[in-house]
Amino acid sequence: MIKNTNIKPSYDCIVLGGGPAGSTAAALVAEAGHSTLLVEREKVPRFHVGESLMPECYWTLDRLGVLDQMKSSDFVKKYSVQFVNGNGKESQPFFFEKHDPRECSQTWQVERADFDKLLFDNAAAKGADCRDQTRALDIEIEESGEHTVTLQTGDDEPVTVSTKVVIDGTGQSSLIANKLGIRQEIPELRKAAIWTYFKGAAREPGQHGGATVILHTETKEAWFWYIPLSNDITSVGLVGDAEFILKSRPTPGDAYCEELGNCPAVANRIKNAEMVDQFRVAKEFSYVTSQHAGPGWVLVGDAFGFLDPVYSTGVFFALKTGEMAADAVIEGFEKGDLSAAQLGKWTDEFKEGVNWLRKLVETYYSNEFSIGRFMKNYPQHQGNLTDLLIGRVFYPGAGNIFNDLDPELAAVKSTKM
Ligand SMILES: Cc1cc2nc3c(=O)[nH]c(=O)nc-3n(C[C@H](O)[C@H](O)[C@H](O)COP(=O)(O)OP(=O)(O)OC[C@H]3O[C@@H](n4cnc5c(N)ncnc54)[C@H](O)[C@@H]3O)c2cc1C
Repeated sequence: MIKNTNIKPSYDCIVLGGGPAGSTAAALVAEAGHSTLLVEREKVPRFHVGESLMPECYWTLDRLGVLDQMKSSDFVKKYSVQFVNGNGKESQPFFFEKHDPRECSQTWQVERADFDKLLFDNAAAKGADCRDQTRALDIEIEESGEHTVTLQTGDDEPVTVSTKVVIDGTGQSSLIANKLGIRQEIPELRKAAIWTYFKGAAREPGQHGGATVILHTETKEAWFWYIPLSNDITSVGLVGDAEFILKSRPTPGDAYCEELGNCPAVANRIKNAEMVDQFRVAKEFSYVTSQHAGPGWVLVGDAFGFLDPVYSTGVFFALKTGEMAADAVIEGFEKGDLSAAQLGKWTDEFKEGVNWLRKLVETYYSNEFSIGRFMKNYPQHQGNLTDLLIGRVFYPGAGNIFNDLDPELAAVKSTKM
């Protein structure tokens, strides 16, 4: 039986959730010398959706010291992304190295169980007290800044632990945001996803074989992701409005198969493949939080907010927020300032970067607008667009493409009305 007897009565920092956001934050805070407890409710490794990384993950992975492990892993190397429209027309692949020849332009397609375990173990190696099968049941947030977290390991009696800082990385469970009522769904991005895994699905030869391919269905009411993983497994997922995907068909499997019939570009790629997993479902997953930090607490990763999966931004944002929040916490300990302003000092910059990708998501879902046609007319924005697809959004001018794209999009929308 698992025992929580060695959990100390108090820590400088408790991190909730052992996903990429929580493990990143815990590793960095512990490495800076602060006693840190990281709790994960599941047994590690645990399954998770979200396999395609963005190249800009590189910098946080480098800082965490795990790049060598990534390089020597079996994870499929990702050099490019490609889009296929509803008529089956393929865009030119976006090869990240053409835009920036450095090694940071190559990233990975990861089995999340293995990737997240690597980061969890890394947090332990950096000095964090890492506990899996340990659920945060509740948290009492005190204005004084001395919070208490109630934890339960396995079937043991719950224990109460005190801490100066709580970093919430509980993902879509959003423990603090739900408790404080600060989580708001984005109604226009009320989506659902149905996905499964195939063995022996088609792959392009060479480097492009590692690409994420995003394919619209013929009616453009939904799209598929196509993510090549190791051992000849491919993750193939369907995304669309929750109402359309789930309500109008008897089962998720029916919806998936019907939309496959509506997307020959995917159906052809998997026609000789064997389905090797069940259908899995996620729904209504895009939301924001109206407050991101308070005295002695801060949100990271999906607990902070979640943008649609079309550009594979989730893990990058999880790593980035984990890093930015950890820096704010470490500086806060140095200055003796664990106020909301200190712990959340990075959030405006972060949200500005996210905003450019949110606008790109809106563009993707604006079915009447062709980004391909736009790029033909505005080739000067090619670099800017590739930066967005790489995740390079935290610099002045990262959103320059929207100076021209916004008016074009508005014009198309007004013609349609
Ligand atoms: C359909 C879909 C497709 C996606 N595809 C991609 C993709 O291709 N690429 C990409 O980058 N992102 C993708 N994402 C997003 C990605 O999965 C997430 O953004 C990412 O996992 C966020 O990491 P995190 O650490 O914030 O949260 P998580 O990875 O969800 O980790 C949170 C952890 O907290 C634990 N936890 C929850 N509550 C408690 C508690 N009370 N006590 C203790 N532990 C707790 C959970 O068990 C979990 O392990 C996708 C998301 C969806 C919905």
